[in-house]
Amino acid sequence: MNTDITHRETIDVRNPATGETIGQVPRGTANDVEEAFRIARRAQQQWAQTSFRHRRHILLRFHNLVLDRRDELMDQIQDENGKNRLSALEEVLDVALTSRYYAYHGPGEVKRKRRKAPLPGLTRTWEERPPKGVVGVIAPFNYPLSLAVSDAIPALMAGNAVVLKPDERTPLSALKGRELLVEAGLPAGLLQVVTGTGEEVGQAIVERCDFLMFTGSTATGEKLAQQAAARLIDFSMELGGKNPMIIAPDAPLERAIEGAWAACFGNSGQLCISIERIYVHRDVAAAFTEGFVRSVRGMNVGAGREWELDMGTQISAEHTDKIEAYVRDAREHGATVLAGGNRIGSAMFEPTVLADVPPAAKLHREEVFGPVVYIEVVDSLEEAVRRANDTEYGLNASVWAAPRTARAIARRLEAGTVNINEGYAPAWSALDAPMGGWKRSGAGRRHGAHGITKFTEPRNVTETRGMNIMANGLPRERLADAAAAALKWGRDILR
Ligand code: NAD
Repeated sequence: MNTDITHRETIDVRNPATGETIGQVPRGTANDVEEAFRIARRAQQQWAQTSFRHRRHILLRFHNLVLDRRDELMDQIQDENGKNRLSALEEVLDVALTSRYYAYHGPGEVKRKRRKAPLPGLTRTWEERPPKGVVGVIAPFNYPLSLAVSDAIPALMAGNAVVLKPDERTPLSALKGRELLVEAGLPAGLLQVVTGTGEEVGQAIVERCDFLMFTGSTATGEKLAQQAAARLIDFSMELGGKNPMIIAPDAPLERAIEGAWAACFGNSGQLCISIERIYVHRDVAAAFTEGFVRSVRGMNVGAGREWELDMGTQISAEHTDKIEAYVRDAREHGATVLAGGNRIGSAMFEPTVLADVPPAAKLHREEVFGPVVYIEVVDSLEEAVRRANDTEYGLNASVWAAPRTARAIARRLEAGTVNINEGYAPAWSALDAPMGGWKRSGAGRRHGAHGITKFTEPRNVTETRGMNIMANGLPRERLADAAAAALKWGRDILR
């Protein structure tokens, strides 16, 4: 969209650490979305005619541009989101990896393929996967570059145009991502970024797009899924989580202690796949808890671009209010604070470890989306699995154990990703396998084959040669006999 802000209503973008205004973007309207779709639809017609080779070339150029300009990107992400630099690096790496993956593997998933035909010799069948058209991407604040751009990449590779709405608090990283894609050679009309609110811009996208790619809260996702269903358009919903970690008696304990704080407090805890519940076996509970609490107390928390900072700010003072309220409620219900528990300034909250959290406390089941985790001691792995699965969510889970134990536990966890002996990053980066949520954590998947085929509309083309299959002049009774005989003959040959 036109980002010229003269004579337009605007939204101030603020640095959550300082409160300072770091940019302004237009407060988009339904008319802006209408215009964005008009431009995108026109650009898509031509784009759909380009070769996969051409699209691959652009994505690979983008891959290098993102890596070369990583400092500029990380500065932008940190300035508008407040996260620490390591978490900003995750976004840069995710975007580069996703570009590379779909540049090389995307075409194979969506190109025209021969399929088994019903009558070999007489018929031939192809599966074709033309693009949907214009994909709507609605993104959240927590990974403002990667969750905006990384889902657009396979959509573009498949031949679609994209109209993207970043979160109103973090639009600048998405705009920069688009700038780099255009610099890499993407036609400017093909990826339209419309800044503004969910109620206005988001709704206008949901009403117009040919496929809806949404990442955000379960509450919003459920509403948008109903709207998409009413229009009979397909969608992918990547939603909230209340992710468990299990520590078994045979866990590599030192690594678990080291890995657990990153799993819980990476991205300031504002990560759909970060850990908010830990179930530790009684045999190792004291050693794990003592080591974990010590390492959390030693975390280097603060705002700024220094690599040494382990955790940055929350997205806003309002979001920090919510986290504070969750912790207060847990305390009032009798929870013990083992580390942290307090707000620092306006938009920062200490990495917090709780114990003795009763089921009546809100955060026992609800997603905090902040740096707060609670520990429960369990007497068996059976109990750990039962408690881990006792949730309405099913996004990510982490298991620390010897490989045989861990794999057996993993098979029983109701979650879209299970990380063995890590928190969240390896399964997230395993782009060749699908990723997404069970239960109320989502519908549809990103990554892998499904991460690109969902942006296409399958078409079955079947050609018949020589004779008609049903109206072929044969007496119908003889046709029935011949068909039955042919099917019986071919049962184990043709399969
Ligand atoms: P949110 O649902 O409030 O907002 C997400 C996006 O939707 C924003 O761009 C917002 O403007 C837009 N939006 C809000 N209301 C809308 C409406 N009525 N119509 C159209 N668009 C609308 O989510 P949030 O609280 O900002 O993000 C945090 C949530 O996102 C957490 O629950 C987190 O777990 C989840 N999340 C999930 C994933 C995942 O991959 N599963 C990744 C990141 C975040």
